[in-house]
Formats: sequence, C-alpha cells, structure tokens
Amino acid sequence: MKAGPRFVTTDLRPLELALQSEVRAFLAEELPRGSYRPGLGFMAEADKAFSRKLGARGWLGMALPKAYGGGERSAVERFIVTEELLAWGAPVGHHWVADRQSGSTIAAFGSEAQKQRFLPGICSGELGFSIGMSEPGAGSDLAGLRTTARKVEGGWRLDGTKVWTTGAHRTDWMITLCRSSEESDRRQGMTQFLVDMSSSGLKVNPIPFLDGTADFNEVVLDDVFVPDELVLGEVGRGWSQNTAELAFERGGPDRYLSTYVVVEQWLRETADLDDEALRLLGRLTACWWGLRQLSLASARTIDEGRSPVVEAALVKELGTRFEQDVLEALQHLVDVEPSPQSTSLFERLLCEAILTAPSNTIRGGTVEVLRSVVAKALL
Ligand SMILES: Cc1cc2nc3c(=O)[nH]c(=O)nc-3n(C[C@H](O)[C@H](O)[C@H](O)COP(=O)(O)OP(=O)(O)OC[C@H]3O[C@@H](n4cnc5c(N)ncnc54)[C@H](O)[C@@H]3O)c2cc1C
Repeated sequence: MKAGPRFVTTDLRPLELALQSEVRAFLAEELPRGSYRPGLGFMAEADKAFSRKLGARGWLGMALPKAYGGGERSAVERFIVTEELLAWGAPVGHHWVADRQSGSTIAAFGSEAQKQRFLPGICSGELGFSIGMSEPGAGSDLAGLRTTARKVEGGWRLDGTKVWTTGAHRTDWMITLCRSSEESDRRQGMTQFLVDMSSSGLKVNPIPFLDGTADFNEVVLDDVFVPDELVLGEVGRGWSQNTAELAFERGGPDRYLSTYVVVEQWLRETADLDDEALRLLGRLTACWWGLRQLSLASARTIDEGRSPVVEAALVKELGTRFEQDVLEALQHLVDVEPSPQSTSLFERLLCEAILTAPSNTIRGGTVEVLRSVVAKALL
C-alpha cells in the first residue's frame, strides 16, 4: 500500500510569530490601507519596486542558500510571509512564480553556474519567471506535449507553442518543458530549459481574459536557440523535475486566500452583522483555519526534507473549490448585482473574484486531475 497524504498538526513557534508581526508592521508602513488597490491573492498586480523592497528585507527566495542571496530559512517562514502578503492583497505579481517555484527548481536541479546567474536576481526581486508547461492539447495530459528541443552545435533549437502562460509579456525567463527525444514511455525524453523571453524567434501573444485583463498568453517558439548551459537539470529527466516543481506550486496559502480580501472588504463596509452574516463568517473562518492548517503542515513537511506532492494536490483541490464557495455564500447573503463600476470597493472586488476565481480550479492542475493524484496515492 502506498503512503497516502499525511498532515501533521503544527503551530507557529515563537520566532515564527515574531516574523509574522514583522511582516504585518512592514505592510502597514509600506502599503497603508487605502493607499493601494488590494489584489486577489497571487493574481495581484505586478510591481517590481515593491518586489525589490521585499527582496531587500530578505523575504524573497527565503529558503534558498545564502551563497546565492537566499535566506536559508524554512518553508514555514516563507509560508508566513506569503500568507501576510496575500491576506493584505499586496502586489506580488512580479516575483510570484520566481519566488514560489522557479528559484527552488533551479536550486534543486540547476548547475552551479545557473545558480550563480539566476538565484541572486530572484532573491532581490529583480527577475520574473513564467511557467512554460501547458500547450494546446497538453494541459492535464502534460506528457502529450509537442514542443520539441532538437540538439544542435552548442545548444538546442526549440519549436512549438506554449499556452496560458501567465505573465509571459512581462517576465524575463520561462522554465520550458520540451520533448527532447521520442521514447516509448511518454514521461521519458523530456527536458527543462531556461528560456530567455527576449530570445530571437520567441513571440508572446496576449490572450484576453474574461475580466478584461491580458495577463496570460500564448508563447510561440520558432527555432529558438537555447545554449547548452541553459539546459536545466538532466537531459531527459524533465518529467520528474517538473513533478517536484508542482509540490511548490500547489500547496501554499495562495490556493485558498485569493477571495479573502473580498470578505475582509465586506466586513469593512458592513456596519452591523446580523445573525446570518455572523453564522457565515464563523463558517468561513473555520474553513480557512482548517485549510491553513493543511497548508502549514505541507510547509513543515518540506522542512523535514520530504516533497509533499500528494498533500499539496489535496490543499489545492480543497482550497480552490472553497474560494468559490466563499463567493457564492457572500452573493447569497448580500444580494447585490456586483458591478466593476460600483462605488463600493467590496462590490468591485466581488465582481472581479466571480470572474477569476473559477480559473484557480484549472491552473496548476484541475480539480479532477488533483483528485486522481490523491486517489492514486490512497490505493
Ligand atoms: C488563469 C490560468 C493561468 C494559467 N497559467 C499557466 C501558466 O502560467 N503556465 C502553464 O504552463 N499553464 C498555465 N495554465 C494552464 C493550466 O495548467 C491548464 O489549463 C490545466 O492544466 C488544464 O489543462 P487544459 O486547459 O488543457 O484542459 P484539459 O486538460 O483539456 O481538461 C479539460 C477538462 O477535462 C478534465 N480532464 C482532463 N483529463 C482528465 C483525467 N485524466 N481525468 C479526469 N478529468 C480529466 C479536466 O479536469 C478539465 O475539466 C493556466 C490556466 C489558467 C486557467
């Protein structure tokens, strides 16, 4: 019998609580309420200057080695910082992917030269990364990807199309999963590459999103040259490296906090809470607390040296469905027709969240696929 998901209850320790207070004080000082437009969790705006300030505080690349600008701090400490940023609706868009997963992937699989080249820029908030996994026809079935990498003198030539690539129009690099050889097992023969977004032959085409924004894109790779020194990890081992990356992508507080600011703003704008509202608030708080405990337990698991792939899948499945339950319950309670033009910030955020929250059950793995990951681990 395989080991199923395992969550061990854990609390924040005194030094961790001190860090939490420090982040709260920083946010109150840097981003006082009313001075910015709160964003919906990790979908918040990209603000490089803000990311640099976090970098200067040592709050990016926190778990990465000090030798490359990191803090050698724990996954739990990173959890604490990101939880506060997300609950505040802070503009985390610029550094989000780099800090959440690209840095750790490079630290785990990159060459010494790659670590020296990329990690300091990730830790300082300078470099932004995109995730180049999905393709037309290869989303859930990622092993079906068709972007090819062909070996040539001194490097590789990449051809294909990536799709739904968040932030590709503004990021510097994309960790790109390609098929580098045909094997009978489709999970073999894949390789990850560090692709410079300004490469010749690379074109980013924006895809308009339901809410009017264009933060995700199609990325066309037409004979893009990538030198040998930018192969990430081992040639042919891209699938397993990519799977490890998903543990970082799926289990964090970003998976249940994107609608938190909507509820908080509702409370700010509501003078009196009746019994029904109080009951709802109690229910939501209990659910948030439960999800938080699961996510926090995943972070502790990483600190114990394990890769909680299954636990992370469970957190994402539960968390992203809960984000939508929150909105449905609120809409039922407040009975307003949310409009992006409303003078109420709560109503504008509610409107935005209704349009975007469903996408969170798709990106990073759909709920059906995550259930399969968990079910297979239980069998
Ligand atoms: C807002 C947003 C941002 C994104 N950002 C990125 C990004 O930055 N980089 C990136 O690489 N990708 C990104 N994605 C892509 C995302 O990872 C894929 O959309 C996702 O993996 C699903 O793939 P798909 O869209 O091809 O749908 P499909 O895989 O075609 O799935 C269609 C439906 O079939 C179901 N299904 C598929 N296979 C199974 C199965 N085996 N069992 C049961 N049900 C199944 C799915 O659950 C889904 O309901 C983003 C997506 C969104 C919506």
